[in-house]
Amino acid sequence: MRLPLLPQTGCCSVCGRPVEGLSSEYVCEECAKAPPAFDRAACAMKFEGQARRMILDFKFNRHLWIRDDLVDFLEAAVRVRFDVSSIDLVIPMPTTIIHRWDRGYNQCEPIARLLARRIGRRLDVRSLARCGSPKRQSSLTEQERRENAKGTFIVRRPRLIRGRTILVVDDILTTGATMSDAARALKESGAARVWAATLARSVRD
Ligand SMILES: [Zn+2]
Repeated sequence: MRLPLLPQTGCCSVCGRPVEGLSSEYVCEECAKAPPAFDRAACAMKFEGQARRMILDFKFNRHLWIRDDLVDFLEAAVRVRFDVSSIDLVIPMPTTIIHRWDRGYNQCEPIARLLARRIGRRLDVRSLARCGSPKRQSSLTEQERRENAKGTFIVRRPRLIRGRTILVVDDILTTGATMSDAARALKESGAARVWAATLARSVRD
């Protein structure tokens, strides 16, 4: 099986977008123009081919046994991109109540739980929540996604967040708008650093 693994060096030091032929770190045009609220992102795979099928099967068809394999790739990317010993809390990207009813579970939670155990850091599933019921992100344009994701995150336990380094775990990084909004909410509650880790990123170009 060939998986489209992403390189963890030679990429944008903020969003992790890979750049061909580059071996040192730099900041990509998009991050320079509109810096996201998260400080740094690690994405394990390109959202295509076998990786795409695995993630969609995990997410929508409940192929839960794929979790260990997915976390293998995520853990490797996280260990390369971050100093894991400085992570205080691992937080799964929360879903809205509507999505949870629809799907029955938050697919990021088992991923974040296993990753936290593997790297020996604390999991926190309660501090970050999502209010409102945004429309399905996949049916929106990039601009609409940005608007729609705005203002939907709330921090329930700011005293646990203040001064901490937080790793937010999600399945796919697309525009980064949702991750950035989550990071903004955490920063407004005093988080020192917000790092992002996703199974895959959709690479447009
Ligand atoms: Zn970037």
